[in-house]
Amino acid sequence: MSADTAPTLATATAAPTEPVDGLGCHAGADTLRAAATAAGKGELLAQYAADYPPSPTAGPHDQPQSMCPAFGALRVGLRMRRTETILSGSACCVYGLTFTSHFYGARRSVGYVPFNSESLVTGKLFEDIREAVHAPADPAKLDALVVINLCVPSASGVPLQLLPKAINGVRIIGIDVPGFGVPTHAEAKDVLAGAMLRYARAEAEAGPVAAPQGWRERQVPGRRSVTLLGELFPADPMVIGQLLEPMGLTAGPTVPTREWRELYTALDGAVVAAIHPFYTASVREFQAAGRPVVASAPVGHDGTEAWLQAIGEAAGVDQVSIDAAKARVLPVIRAVLAKSPIHGRITLSGYEGSELLVARLLIESGAQVPYVGTACPHTPWSEPDRAWLAARGVQVQYRATLEQDIAAIERHRPDLAIGTTPVVQYAKERALPSLYFTNLISARPLMGPAGAGSLAQVINAAIGNRARFEQMREFFGETGQGDRAGVWTETPVLHPEFRAETRRQVIRIQKRRKAEEMI
Ligand code: SF4
Repeated sequence: MSADTAPTLATATAAPTEPVDGLGCHAGADTLRAAATAAGKGELLAQYAADYPPSPTAGPHDQPQSMCPAFGALRVGLRMRRTETILSGSACCVYGLTFTSHFYGARRSVGYVPFNSESLVTGKLFEDIREAVHAPADPAKLDALVVINLCVPSASGVPLQLLPKAINGVRIIGIDVPGFGVPTHAEAKDVLAGAMLRYARAEAEAGPVAAPQGWRERQVPGRRSVTLLGELFPADPMVIGQLLEPMGLTAGPTVPTREWRELYTALDGAVVAAIHPFYTASVREFQAAGRPVVASAPVGHDGTEAWLQAIGEAAGVDQVSIDAAKARVLPVIRAVLAKSPIHGRITLSGYEGSELLVARLLIESGAQVPYVGTACPHTPWSEPDRAWLAARGVQVQYRATLEQDIAAIERHRPDLAIGTTPVVQYAKERALPSLYFTNLISARPLMGPAGAGSLAQVINAAIGNRARFEQMREFFGETGQGDRAGVWTETPVLHPEFRAETRRQVIRIQKRRKAEEMI
């Protein structure tokens, strides 16, 4: 196909000319999985099921009952310099994903290859994608071009693995991120990070690769680096660097990386710290490169002590240096924790992967934490945190559902509920102080001495707000609740009889259908 006839990268709002029905979120996870398996993606789905074990009842949006999981992979690509991302999926999915990415300040275009029923079933969509990746593959502008298959193209078996590995020197990374195979947006980050590490590892094994710009200048001669796995608050890698100094180590790059060359230095680290515990595919690449991986993170006193010991041992550091690192920082952390106490009962839930770490910090600050829910699965990399919390009577719920998080609030009646948006909303309706985990908790330093004191102020202020919540509830009464929600010019008149009548009709229809099935 000539350049004139090649499909252009449409804007995110372009729609397929015909609707592709039956294979969207509403089709059900089983239908989508069966279609994908029949279309040749069985092996990939089996790998995803091993890497990201789903809850047995999970559908595309059941975990973590929030945004499309593919956002995680999209965001990783969008945050990398000299990297472009193209989506292949239904227009409604692409609209939602691009809307969210711009809401979070992507500040660059997302490519989109539209399709219709015909181009999907005839294989023309793959040809369109192949054409579409050629146009932007300019090595002067790009290191990598990421193509993401969303649910429908994944279920239809669009074979991104057949795309060229590179065009004009621009690496082409094709990944499937279907909601029926990757349960959370956290794990979708790992799908892309793992695919990039795999590519970079093959390059490094084939011959010399370039260091990131300014990397050598930033390094202290003779000091080995510790690669950090997980999107961290910007101050955390610096704090970790200070913790590592007495052991002759330094903080290496953070994965997901911000540029392609950092992947090489990440793979070259002496040790990998799996700070966020859900990067299963990435860990596989580091282990294939012969790098030891250490669980947990330097949070609070106990967490920092155990982490320094584990990192030091994994890097072959002598015990005297490990003890020196501990002696330098642990008394400081103890003092900061004592100076910033937290009093109150707190339930905590989220989908970032750092929930268990935050719970440890809260407990060491003096809070009572009876429940921690995380949308992420149980992996070896959070096991020390789970064991530490369990030893203190905390219920740790992996793959937590909204219902489980809410039941915990009902059960424990906390002074503060930290959680996802619907959890926070539920708590506020009951006049319980609450904080949104993603924006207000995980956007703070958590590591070492900086983390020890960072939560107390925001948490104590929120707990202290309870009286204001009570006042507001008293003032507003039932206004805006249930059927009264919305903007009204007159006082809403409730009609519970309408709902009862609809329910009666639905039950009648269901009974009739059942009777017909039995004939
Ligand atoms: S790509 Fe995301 S939004 Fe679209 S059907 Fe799949 S899970 Fe739903």
